[in-house]
Amino acid sequence: MSVLISRRRALATGLAAPVTRFSIRPDYLAEPDIIPSFWISTFDDVGRFLSQNIRKGAVRVIGTSAGGRPIRAVFYGQPRAGKGTSTFSGSLGFRDVRAYIGPDYARKVYLDICGVHGGEFEGIVGSVNLLSVLETGQDLRGRRWPEITAAAGALDRIIVIPIMNPDGRVRVPLRMIRHRGRDETVQEYFNTGGKPDGTLIGWPKCKEHNPVDFSTTQFPGGYPNDAGVNIQHDDFFGSPQPETRALFDLTARERPDLILNMHTGAIYLQPLCSFLEPALTPVFEALYRRVMTALTQAGLEHTGDVAKESDPTRLRMSPFNLDSALNMHCGSLNFLIESPMHSTSTAERDGKPFLQTPDRLLDAHLIAQQEAMKFLVDTGGRARWTPPSRPK
Ligand SMILES: [Zn+2]
Repeated sequence: MSVLISRRRALATGLAAPVTRFSIRPDYLAEPDIIPSFWISTFDDVGRFLSQNIRKGAVRVIGTSAGGRPIRAVFYGQPRAGKGTSTFSGSLGFRDVRAYIGPDYARKVYLDICGVHGGEFEGIVGSVNLLSVLETGQDLRGRRWPEITAAAGALDRIIVIPIMNPDGRVRVPLRMIRHRGRDETVQEYFNTGGKPDGTLIGWPKCKEHNPVDFSTTQFPGGYPNDAGVNIQHDDFFGSPQPETRALFDLTARERPDLILNMHTGAIYLQPLCSFLEPALTPVFEALYRRVMTALTQAGLEHTGDVAKESDPTRLRMSPFNLDSALNMHCGSLNFLIESPMHSTSTAERDGKPFLQTPDRLLDAHLIAQQEAMKFLVDTGGRARWTPPSRPK
């Protein structure tokens, strides 16, 4: 028996229509017997949460996916007023980024992007709970986060996008994947997809074809939008997908200082270093130290050794991706974080198995957001990170 998932939505782009039915093994579709109420992860549940719970913020549709679905963002605070006199590139040539950011360069703007990959639920859950904290002071478990509340009060603008790739998220028809011990097969299937015989396409093989032709797969995973494109590796300078275009338009308007891009695929919460403007390297490293110190002190990293866990020189750089493109587009510092998975248990801490429970995952996500927000408050943002260096 197979479960068929069909969709008749017409493509908004002129690209080839995807296969609309996928045959997924029924045992892969088993959910846990108990799903915590704070685990809001599906496109419909997130949409319902936004319409019922956002009072202080404003929910807006910033674009429409290739499959015709709305991309929603939540806005808090005031945008920067006025415009700069130059392009971002021009401002670097002028050696004063304020010429791009504009007269309101001192405002601090924070952007949180989640769900670029539709099979990666943890960041979506984290962002919904972050929104709960911004609205009520408490996450959906009732836990208070006074440092997030204080940092949010000191930021001028916060924008949260819980699901950047709604097509990919809808394609993965689960609220939560059943826990599979050390076996990552099901998680990987929903993430990077399955070949026609059901075996895994795998990472990084899933990036060989972009766009991916869905007819060459049994299930294309949650990476691509309905046009088959993984926007983390979009054709940024040529013909970007509508999701990427929406993000480019938003970031050109808002000129965020700091962008978090939340993914899943690590054993403990792990920021990755994307190729960014070299002038931002020391700032990236300072933020890395801050986030990893807090996570280590909370007992949420491999060891309790803060010096080791927070050492950014251990990182390898991702060559060129959405975060690089956003940095080159609007000057933002981009911080990509890979989350552990809720469905497997490969972690060990001090040689003992460590279970990444939904509670621990949510703690780790909110600590990361908290430290990133505090970092932006304390360090002042892009115009202060790279002060003017014009010759007199
Ligand atoms: Zn991802």
